[in-house]
Amino acid sequence: MQFNWANITSLAYLTLLEQDIREFPIPVKKIKCKGVKICSYQKYAEITGATLEQITLGHELDDAFLLRGLRPGITLILYNKGKYPPRMKHTLWHEIGHIKCEHKKHSEKEEIEAHFFAAQITAPNVLIKALYKRGYSISTQFLMECFGISKEAAEKKMEYLRKYTFNHSNEYDDSLLEQFSQYLSKKYPPKNSCYYDEYFDEMEKERQNWY
Ligand SMILES: [Zn+2]
Repeated sequence: MQFNWANITSLAYLTLLEQDIREFPIPVKKIKCKGVKICSYQKYAEITGATLEQITLGHELDDAFLLRGLRPGITLILYNKGKYPPRMKHTLWHEIGHIKCEHKKHSEKEEIEAHFFAAQITAPNVLIKALYKRGYSISTQFLMECFGISKEAAEKKMEYLRKYTFNHSNEYDDSLLEQFSQYLSKKYPPKNSCYYDEYFDEMEKERQNWY
């Protein structure tokens, strides 16, 4: 299976930039996608007057469901509001990931890509790197607290970082850092002197150019 991780990361970062998301964990009301209606099963039941059992024909509810073609140009994502919030939010971004990646089917490859998209939206690698550079030690627990993701998602992210560290850079890294700079300095001020050292090194280089 061939994956274009850089491209999926770009799509995820662009979504964060376009939606003007500036803090983590991302609030549910900020989870949106152009041309897509997002509605909970619970609300859908209220609107249609059908019970949840009728909507699902008595089956247990899936986390979410993506429906196209109900009306021209409208895609509908139905989701289960009753699920554990970190998991529910990941699922919503996962469904949006299918749309952003322009998936035409739903096989194993598309599933992996949609999960990767959701993981890069809910906990972008470039921000984890920034936190690391500020002297915060990155662990499963830390990722869960900082980004409001599930233990399962945090463990997957740790696995990825152990494998690739921060080797993957992206064309939108700098734009994203700028958008989250206020959030970072407010919530995660630098803890270490080496963060400053880097800054002073740059200052020193600049100062030397004055002569
Ligand atoms: Zn999927």
